[in-house]
Amino acid sequence: MTKICIETIPILPFGMLNAFLIIGDGKVVLVDTGLPHSEARIYKLLKKHGLDWSHISAIVLTHAHVDHAGSAVAVQALTSAPVIAHEREIPYCQGEPPIMNATGMFGRLFYKTGAILEPFPCFTPDIPMVTTELSLAEFGFPTVTILHTPGHTPGSVSVLLDDGRVIAGDLAASGILLGGIVLRKRPKRPPFEESPHHAATSLGQLLSRGGETFYIGHGGPLSTKAITVHITALRKLNPVSG
Ligand SMILES: [Zn+2]
Ligand SMILES: [Zn+2]
Repeated sequence: MTKICIETIPILPFGMLNAFLIIGDGKVVLVDTGLPHSEARIYKLLKKHGLDWSHISAIVLTHAHVDHAGSAVAVQALTSAPVIAHEREIPYCQGEPPIMNATGMFGRLFYKTGAILEPFPCFTPDIPMVTTELSLAEFGFPTVTILHTPGHTPGSVSVLLDDGRVIAGDLAASGILLGGIVLRKRPKRPPFEESPHHAATSLGQLLSRGGETFYIGHGGPLSTKAITVHITALRKLNPVSG
């Protein structure tokens, strides 16, 4: 197998919001779908690699926030690939408003705009993940595994390649405001986080499984060193006030 390529799809500029293509031998896994109406941005990156919608063998959602799952229904209609999400995200895929614990001033202000609670087309994942890990072998990627990594949301997952690259969704963020723009190598908490202690445990698990380069939804990528520093900061937080 040729080396797997991870292509970042800029849903918003300056790394503010990313989705990803995992590209192997004629097959592609799409990780996250961006905000509603992101199909053209995704297609542009497929085309860059000489690919089209028919090459997508699976759509993995790191979690069911609008900025990651907003185009799931539209993309699936173009690809007919199955949508994979953790079973604990199903209520949010079906329109239940997510729990939003703001991690700071920006999160509180952002919450007030209502943008993060914007409804998006509802769906039920074709493959609800009910185990702690799931291989993507049957979708053409035997060296790629989805791991349940709660913390940002209860059903957040990360996609780990056996060479140490990992797509971790919003388990950590970097940059300023929503994420990205500047300081993209410096880790920070996402604007919302359900449990900082669960996030620390999940990041530690990814490191122990060989995670080295962390591609994230907002900013990044982050190094092992940056993630280690971030875990220490998360563990110091009060689990309740988080
Ligand atoms: Zn999120
Ligand atoms: Zn996000």
